[in-house]
Amino acid sequence: MSEIDDARVRTVHEGTATAGPVLYWMNRDQRLEDNWALLYAQQRALVSGQPLVIAACADPARFSSNERQMSFMLAGLIHLQKKADTYGIPTYVFPGDTVKRIVQTVRHFAAGTVVTDFSPLRKDRENLARVAEHISIPVYEVDAHNIVPCRTASDKREYGAYTIRPRINRQLGRFLTEFPPLRPHPHRLSETLTAPSAAIVPQTISPLPSGSEAAMAVMQRFMSSGLTRYFEHRNNPVVDAQSGLSPYLHFGQLAAQRVALEAQRVGDRDIKPLEAFLEQLIVRRELSDNFCLHTPEYDSFEGFPSWAQASHLEHRGDPRSYLYSPQQFETADTHDPLWNAAQSLLVSSGRMHGYMRMYWAKKILEWSATPEQALVVAIDLNDRFALDGNDSNGYTGIAWSIGGVHDRPWFERDIFGKVRYMSESGCRRKFDVKAYIASAAVDTAGVA
Ligand SMILES: Cc1cc2nc3c(=O)[nH]c(=O)nc-3n(C[C@H](O)[C@H](O)[C@H](O)COP(=O)(O)OP(=O)(O)OC[C@H]3O[C@@H](n4cnc5c(N)ncnc54)[C@H](O)[C@@H]3O)c2cc1C
Repeated sequence: MSEIDDARVRTVHEGTATAGPVLYWMNRDQRLEDNWALLYAQQRALVSGQPLVIAACADPARFSSNERQMSFMLAGLIHLQKKADTYGIPTYVFPGDTVKRIVQTVRHFAAGTVVTDFSPLRKDRENLARVAEHISIPVYEVDAHNIVPCRTASDKREYGAYTIRPRINRQLGRFLTEFPPLRPHPHRLSETLTAPSAAIVPQTISPLPSGSEAAMAVMQRFMSSGLTRYFEHRNNPVVDAQSGLSPYLHFGQLAAQRVALEAQRVGDRDIKPLEAFLEQLIVRRELSDNFCLHTPEYDSFEGFPSWAQASHLEHRGDPRSYLYSPQQFETADTHDPLWNAAQSLLVSSGRMHGYMRMYWAKKILEWSATPEQALVVAIDLNDRFALDGNDSNGYTGIAWSIGGVHDRPWFERDIFGKVRYMSESGCRRKFDVKAYIASAAVDTAGVA
């Protein structure tokens, strides 16, 4: 029996099966262990007695020119490449245009099958469709990012956490299982084959330790000290109670499924923090993929629910007390020291606490001429500076903050209409704003 649930696998392109290596186009899930897409690729290669090859692309088009993300990703791939060698799986990293490189690699190795990992994001889906158009061999997509595969959890856009939660919870028993191991691969590429000429040896200085081992270390640290504080303090930006795992999960250096299994193992005596953490890690994260998969306009006004669109239209002409340009937002040049502190941290470190992210995006709405402009500014800053940017969680979090996605209508007020409002005084009631601003000043010291 196959070790990989069929529900994870989608045939993108039937193609004509030919004898040849299996190519795993590693896109969103950049890890060797705990990776359903790589396991599936290996299974196909073992059954057909073929070599297995990995290709990954460092394509700036996927990163909104976010150099911090590019360095972090390349650093992770350096570790991965070395380790893949020990499994007998040659791994190549290519610069530039993803479609061109993957098609070239298929031809170079005369590959017989392509396997890639699932992404709901527009650019990734376009790339996949274009690769499939250019080659005649079978292409498979495997959901290695979600615990309950996104297409299985739901076949439509969900209204909110309350509608997707029962669907996911019903299926966790089937999907939240231990992973089989990746095996040393017995079938090697012919020695006469050289590396594709465009392949590069990644060289980079990462903004923080990168790769699966670094990700595991961050996870273990959270399991031993952060998880117990999670329920009570996760919304307090001056307490270190969140996991800090989002960059690792974004690049798939760590499987969310591994994190969930580990949290269940260590957290079973204290149910409240465990439940609160799994709600974010599983339900909210998978809801974001659901939103992006089923909402072609996930990053525009048209993606907002109809009540929020109507309400924004009614409040379009409301006077704004403050109006800032994209440049002023970027340089943290607003009247609000709390907002400036959060934005400065984003630029200097690529990080912003989850609670501050909501405040940050809502204030961009309040201080922009239109919700459309606010959306453009928030997405641009998040994607260009955040280490976990260019992610379905980002598009969904911003759409939640500015456009009421997955939320309900609230009391009507100026500018926000019925979209939930957040205030600086509300932040003061929740946490020590002065301490946050002071710590941000320390963290950004020395950054021009
Ligand atoms: C305006 C805005 C922008 C955001 N941009 C991003 C982004 O670019 N990339 C990103 O990964 N997340 C984003 N989020 C979601 C969330 O804020 C971050 O995932 C979280 O703060 C990351 O820190 P952590 O890993 O310590 O989270 P933890 O609280 O430790 O949670 C563990 C994991 O659960 C998932 N998660 C947590 N909160 C959410 C959430 N609200 N929605 C979906 N998944 C969640 C993440 O994968 C996270 O790494 C954004 C939220 C908002 C409101």
